[in-house]
Amino acid sequence: MQKLIMIKYGELSTKKDNIGFFLSTLKKNVEYALKNIDYEIKYDKNRMFIKSSNLDNVIEKLKKVFGIHEISVCYQLDNRNLDSISKDLIKIIENVEFKTFKVAVKRSDKTYPLDSMELAKKLGGVVLKNKDNISVDVHNPELLINVEIRTDQVYIYIDNIQGIGGYPVGVLGKGLLMLSGGIDSPVAGYLAIKRGIKLECVYFESPPHTSIEAKNKVLELSKKLAVYNNGMKVHIINFTKIQESIYRNIPHDYLITIMRRMMYRISAILSHNNRGHVIVNGESVGQVASQTLTSMEVINEVVKMPVIRPVACFDKLEIIDIARRIGTYETSILPYEDCCTIFVPAHPVINPVLSKCYEYEKLIPYEELIHDAIKNQEVVKVGEDNKEFDELL
Ligand code: ATP
Ligand code: MG
Repeated sequence: MQKLIMIKYGELSTKKDNIGFFLSTLKKNVEYALKNIDYEIKYDKNRMFIKSSNLDNVIEKLKKVFGIHEISVCYQLDNRNLDSISKDLIKIIENVEFKTFKVAVKRSDKTYPLDSMELAKKLGGVVLKNKDNISVDVHNPELLINVEIRTDQVYIYIDNIQGIGGYPVGVLGKGLLMLSGGIDSPVAGYLAIKRGIKLECVYFESPPHTSIEAKNKVLELSKKLAVYNNGMKVHIINFTKIQESIYRNIPHDYLITIMRRMMYRISAILSHNNRGHVIVNGESVGQVASQTLTSMEVINEVVKMPVIRPVACFDKLEIIDIARRIGTYETSILPYEDCCTIFVPAHPVINPVLSKCYEYEKLIPYEELIHDAIKNQEVVKVGEDNKEFDELL
C-alpha cells in the first residue's frame, strides 16, 4: 500500500472538447508549484495522482494552484481482492477517531466481481467488526471512507482538503492587469487568474512625484500574485510627462478622466503587444468619481479591447476580505502614494462629457507622449526565485 495525493478537478471535468489542453496545462502548473520538491505525477480525465516523499509540503503548494477542486491523501492498493482490501482498510483507519461512518464505493472497472453496493456493505461490515462503539450513518457520517476500484488498483481516501477551484492559469489566454498599490487591483488580478487568465501587469509611476517605495510596494504585490500566475512580468511605465502635461494644460476637474483615458490607451497597446486579449483592473462601481457609470463609459471609450473588472460589484469590505485571505492586504495598506492620488483635484467631474474630452485632449500631444512612454518602459520579471527582483527590493 502506498500513500499519495489525489487531486479532483471539479468544474474542469465538464470541459469536454478541450479537456486535454486544460489538464496538460494544470499538470504544467502543478509542476511549477512543486519545482523544488521531488515528486512523480500521473493523470487521467478524472484524477491526478502525485507521489512524493514530502506529501505535507506538496499539499501546501497545491492549495495555491487554480483548477484544483479537492485534494486528498490517498492510499493506493495494488491487490484488488476483497481480503487484501479489508486488511489495508483496517490499517488505514486504525488511528482515526470516529463514531459514525459510511463506505462509498465507486467502480470505474465494471468487470470487478462485486458491484458497488455489495462491496460497500462488505467493507462496512469489516469496519464494524474492527472498531468498538461505532455505527453506520449513510446521511451524515463523521467519517466518509471512499473506495475507488480501478482496472489495476484500488484507491482509498478518507479526507478531503478543499482546493481553490477556478481554471488552470493560462487556459483562457493572456490579459494585462492595471496594478496600483491599492487594495482593489491585486484582488481583481487574483480573481482574473482564477478564471484561467495568465496576467502581465502594468504600473504607472510618476517620479519624482511618486516614490521608489510606491514602486516596490507594487512589485511586492505582483510577487504575491506571481505565486498563482507562474511568475509575473511587470511593465513599469513612466507616466510623469503625460501627467504633468495634463496638469498644465487641462481644466482640473477633468484631470482624472483624461489621465485614466491615457492609462487605458497605454494598457490596450501593451496588452495587445504581449498577446493579451483583455485589460483587467480594480474598478468598483461608485467607489470614486472616476468609477461612476458615466465616467466609466467616457473612459472606456478609448479602447476596443474588453475590460474585465472582477470587483466591479463587490463592496469594499468584501474586497478587503479577499485581500486578507490572499495576503495582499497588509502590503496594500502601506502608506506610499501612487500617481493617481497625488494629482487628485479638489472637485473631479462626476459626470464627464465625451465631447469635452476630445476638446481637451487636442491640447496635449498625447500620441507622441504615449509612444515614448511605451518605448521607455521598464520590464521586471517577478518570480519566486527571481534574483533580479530580490535585488530590486
Ligand atoms: P486600487 O485600490 O486598486 O488602487 P482605487 O479604488 O484606488 O483602486 P483608482 O485609483 O480609481 O481606484 O483606480 C482604479 C483602478 O485603476 C485600479 O484598481 C487599478 O486597476 C488602476 N490603476 C489606478 N492607478 C494605477 C497605477 N498607478 N498603475 C496601474 N494601474 C492603476
Ligand atoms: Mg488606487
